[in-house]
Amino acid sequence: MATVIDTLKDRPRHPEKASRPDTPMLRKPEWLRVRAPGSAGYNETRDVVRANGLTTVCEEAACPNIGECWSVGHATMMIMGEICTRACAFCNVATGRPDPLDPTEPARVAEAVAKMGLKHVVITSVDRDDLADGGAAHFAAVVLAIRAAAPATTIEILTPDFLRKDGAAEIVIDSAPDVFNHNLETVPRLYLTIRPGARYYNSLRLLERVKERDPTRFTKSGLMVGLGEAKEEVMQVMDDMRSAGVDFLTIGQYLQPTRKHAAVDRFVHPDEFAAYEAIARAKGFLMVSASPLTRSSHHAGEDFAKLQAARAALSSAA
Ligand code: SF4
Repeated sequence: MATVIDTLKDRPRHPEKASRPDTPMLRKPEWLRVRAPGSAGYNETRDVVRANGLTTVCEEAACPNIGECWSVGHATMMIMGEICTRACAFCNVATGRPDPLDPTEPARVAEAVAKMGLKHVVITSVDRDDLADGGAAHFAAVVLAIRAAAPATTIEILTPDFLRKDGAAEIVIDSAPDVFNHNLETVPRLYLTIRPGARYYNSLRLLERVKERDPTRFTKSGLMVGLGEAKEEVMQVMDDMRSAGVDFLTIGQYLQPTRKHAAVDRFVHPDEFAAYEAIARAKGFLMVSASPLTRSSHHAGEDFAKLQAARAALSSAA
């Protein structure tokens, strides 16, 4: 199990949450237990990450899948620093005032991707509300640098919402990643408590704009469950996503990083995930991954191959 780190370079990770009352942490059910990391493959991935000075969301978000993913060389890189300008109630990424962007980062990330010989890479970032374009140009520069250094690698990006950053999303879309992912995270009713700095409709429109600008681009979005949402609300979000043309839906269990974060309302049973998956497939998503340990970037490479195959099958049937 990944360890939750509560301090970052001698400062609290979440200063804005320090005065909040502790919330109880529920004991995890059997189906959420994972093996501790430490295989040879895990150590190799960790060494490449450290040698290239990279930040990963695997570590920053205390992802439970890190042992499995890193053992097969799959790490999701987090660009634009390790400090986020938002303060979402579910997220373990440190919050505060970020450092200036590092202009050497696109080349360093691209070099690491080429060195690791990745077939598929997932790049995400912190929110950079402090920058005029929300970091869009930097994000695009990373995508283009990877294309140049590793042309055979397919690229999936998991972006911030670029709220109130006119023209920013278009810059990122035009860098032509293979998959554009932006997570809606939860149902609209819970935005004010779980994702207070974001707006549901803005996030949905971002996904729709990707399709409007380039209908060939794959789009993907994800939800956490176990935060207090009702099944009907999840089904409504599925419909909203389909209206926005989203191809790939991921649904996973919310896990509470610390006692200062939003409490887990309940652990959703694996059978309920299977039911969500069946409903989502019936609603027309090309791909659905729904399980307690599903995360946006979990098995992203294999899932991208399935996504391509699903689109090809659909067009040959048309
Ligand atoms: S699921 Fe994603 S964030 Fe978690 S360890 Fe795997 S690659 Fe990293």
